[in-house]
Amino acid sequence: MHIQSKLPGAGTNIFTVMSGLATEYNAVNLGQGFPDYQMSEELISLVNGAMQKGFNQYVPMQGFPPLREAIAEKISGLYNTAVNPNTDITITPGGTYAIYTALTTVLQPGDEVIIFEPAYDSYIPNVEVNGAVPILIDLKFPEYKIDWAEVRKKITARTKMIMLNSPHNPTGAVLSENDITELRSIVNGTNIFICSDEVYEHLIFDNIPHQSILRYPDLLERSFVCFSFGKVYHCTGWKLGYCVSSPSLMNEFRKIHQFNCFSCHAPSQVGLSAFLKNKDSYLTLSSFMQEKRDHFIQLMRNTKFELLDSKGSYFICAKYDQLSNEPDKDFSIRITKEYGVATIPVSAFYKSGTDNKVVRFCFSKKNETLEAAVERLAKIS
Ligand code: PMP
Ligand code: GLN
Repeated sequence: MHIQSKLPGAGTNIFTVMSGLATEYNAVNLGQGFPDYQMSEELISLVNGAMQKGFNQYVPMQGFPPLREAIAEKISGLYNTAVNPNTDITITPGGTYAIYTALTTVLQPGDEVIIFEPAYDSYIPNVEVNGAVPILIDLKFPEYKIDWAEVRKKITARTKMIMLNSPHNPTGAVLSENDITELRSIVNGTNIFICSDEVYEHLIFDNIPHQSILRYPDLLERSFVCFSFGKVYHCTGWKLGYCVSSPSLMNEFRKIHQFNCFSCHAPSQVGLSAFLKNKDSYLTLSSFMQEKRDHFIQLMRNTKFELLDSKGSYFICAKYDQLSNEPDKDFSIRITKEYGVATIPVSAFYKSGTDNKVVRFCFSKKNETLEAAVERLAKIS
């Protein structure tokens, strides 16, 4: 049989490769982004309880209504924006799926999508599989800021969408109010959509307010804003998230969703709808994760890595030029094998493999895991 690949350039993604190596070499895994500590016992028992009470059949395609209502309430409290749980929110099997569905909802072959690099690894394939063209713009190293003058230059009549991600994976950079002003002035009067990946919404540090698109109703009209319960509630294996948009866009989004996933895991949605009512379940997350970041920064003073800034997400990047001039992928593989610590080479987040000699660490780990990793990293000379 002959099959024409839809993604001829794609191999196995870097997270799978580095986690595989970590297991093989018994390394401390600060590569792939997932916590190694237990999630909330309360949320576990709410989901267990939902199963026992019989919530084991399909919920509506749009998502369990009380969960959508709880999300709308949360959005109103956090961002002072009214969203309609019936028309503006859809529960999805994870953030990645929400992003893919948003792109598939709007893209026609030949459309252009602006993507900032380094970029989360699913964006470019998600655009290409739809026959559209990624237009790549480098974030300015080492702060990883958006160069809006360059964005203006790259806008054409075919620009269909701009992808945003704040807090940003892999760099921990966050959007500022000025970024939103620039964005608004670029899209104003155009038919350009926005896909905003906000899966790290609650993991933002140093009291910086999260510049969610949800704060800005004029931008939300043209946007798909994507979230992940897995990322915020330390249960990445649950693969549950949601998308918020405006009614006419969400109507089209649901046409794609209903013939793909149709309806997501019911008991988790029931459990989450109760859990979300307690505001502390999300308001305490920033300080919890900031403590981990700060602990990791403190520990890393014992190494020759030069940490860059991380203002959000659960990642922090580091230059290693005082240790080696190998390409970042070779360096990551070697330190996994020789020193027993897995990281992610940041070149993997660039289509052309741009290598600034930077690796990404995930600090969403138990303190003892971070300590064990840094003890090993300090031995690299
Ligand atoms: N976007 C970014 C930037 C991420 O880091 C992740 C985490 N894998 C996702 C989306 C996807 O989240 P989920 O696991 O819910 O699909
Ligand atoms: N979001 C996680 C990361 O960036 C893992 C995602 C994945 O394994 N596909 O590490």
